[in-house]
Amino acid sequence: MIFGNYINGEWISAGAVFEDRNPANTAEVVGEFVKGTARDIADAASAAAAAFPAWSATAGPARGNLLYKAADILDRSFESIAADMTREEGKTLPEAKGEVRRSINIFRYFAGEGSRMPGMLVPSERDRVHMFALRKPIGVVGLVTPWNFPSAIPAWKLAPALICGNTVVFKPASAAPLSAWRIVEALHQAGVPKGVVNFVAGSGGELGRALIAAPQLKAVSFTGSCDVGNWLHGEASKRRLRIQLEMGGKNPTIVLADADFTSAVENTVNAAFFSTGQKCTATSRAIVEDSIYDKFVAAVVERTRKLKVGDGMQAGIEIGPCVDQGQMETVLRYIDIGRKECGEPLCGGRRLADGAHANGWFVEPTVFAGVEEKHTIAREEIFGPVLAIMRARDFEDAMRMANAIPFGLSSSIQTTNLSRAFEYIYRAEAGLLTVNLPSAGVEYQLPFGGTKDSSFGPKEQGPAALEFYSDYKTVYLKY
Ligand code: NAP
Repeated sequence: MIFGNYINGEWISAGAVFEDRNPANTAEVVGEFVKGTARDIADAASAAAAAFPAWSATAGPARGNLLYKAADILDRSFESIAADMTREEGKTLPEAKGEVRRSINIFRYFAGEGSRMPGMLVPSERDRVHMFALRKPIGVVGLVTPWNFPSAIPAWKLAPALICGNTVVFKPASAAPLSAWRIVEALHQAGVPKGVVNFVAGSGGELGRALIAAPQLKAVSFTGSCDVGNWLHGEASKRRLRIQLEMGGKNPTIVLADADFTSAVENTVNAAFFSTGQKCTATSRAIVEDSIYDKFVAAVVERTRKLKVGDGMQAGIEIGPCVDQGQMETVLRYIDIGRKECGEPLCGGRRLADGAHANGWFVEPTVFAGVEEKHTIAREEIFGPVLAIMRARDFEDAMRMANAIPFGLSSSIQTTNLSRAFEYIYRAEAGLLTVNLPSAGVEYQLPFGGTKDSSFGPKEQGPAALEFYSDYKTVYLKY
């Protein structure tokens, strides 16, 4: 089937196409997508600008009703949307179901914001002066998303952008556009007015350049790699566009000697390998206190060896493939660098390409131990099923190592010591912290985003999302 772009309320199915293939079985084409052009982005931006006056003047609760409707439509197709996601991205079906459920919840959460849209009302110092600040939308917003959460990230950008009254030009990731397309289809079926949402799939380089140059654009929200995000930031600042960037990480899990050992092992393995390590919040460094280091390494390796790798549509599979050949090759290249710098991994380290794995981009979950701070795999984001275990002398040493990188997305500690947990909470240099949980696995009701080189601009999700997608108009009224 050919999936078209959506511009000014019309599905555009003409033009060249690109394939969306199943990374667990590359013989399967999940869909063909129309390859959008710079012209399509220009048309989408014009349509969004034309739709803005009416949409921004629509009452918040009415905008909310449309999001509720879209959520209900997604809910009715819950099973098939999740299956599509597993087929295009590779994550296991239970993980895909969890993500689709989250997208639906995000739509309902932000639908409710339409009836709240909190402003400010404060007492004036002056007699008979009434002062307040209203929220107002920004205008045409560009949204650019990655492939690893191909439904939830589009949802957590689209829903707050729309509920605040903005109109949207949305560019999904080429490796997994179908999950994003399904959300746009739901908005269309819910009756979104023409031009309010525009969807253009295709090459990031070409479309990204056209988007950032579109004169109607007022803001851009991007999630993806640091290279692209930093480039977008440079371009956006030339035009003083509002920008929000969520980018890479090199997330630590600190394991202290007083941790609940079994759950620390489980949380580390879960955070490192589930979703094939392709979560921006995945743990890629386990920093373990010296006195339990050897025992912890042995237990992680034993648990990792038991992980079942395969086609995520099959029951019992825990780890799917890398999203595409390029990502798999990146992971294998880092494994080779790890071998040269730190020695042979204790488990994994190879591509799986025989039998049930013959047609997919599978890599064994891989554990390196004895990794030091100077090693490449302790410093650079790999975005795959590779865990570097590092030895720390004590809590202070672990804390220093955890913070001694330019990234600051997520961070975790495993400890039963309450004082240490709070010490960590106040000192960890990351935007998302977990204590006695995996470093990955966030909900939508609280702010989401990192610090340092991982992120720039206001946070996403929760009430904080409104700060990026709206502005204040401050009013002083004498009566
Ligand atoms: P990516 O290569 O940067 O791509 C992200 C999006 O940007 C895609 O839609 C891509 O399009 C588009 N793009 C590429 N070049 C562009 C350009 N010049 N201008 C505008 N857009 C452009 O990242 P990815 O490989 O999809 O995702 C993996 C990265 O995302 C990792 O670094 C991960 O940590 C990060 N991530 C961060 C978060 C977070 O919240 N911090 C969440 C998830 C993922 P094409 O697909 O067509 O190339």
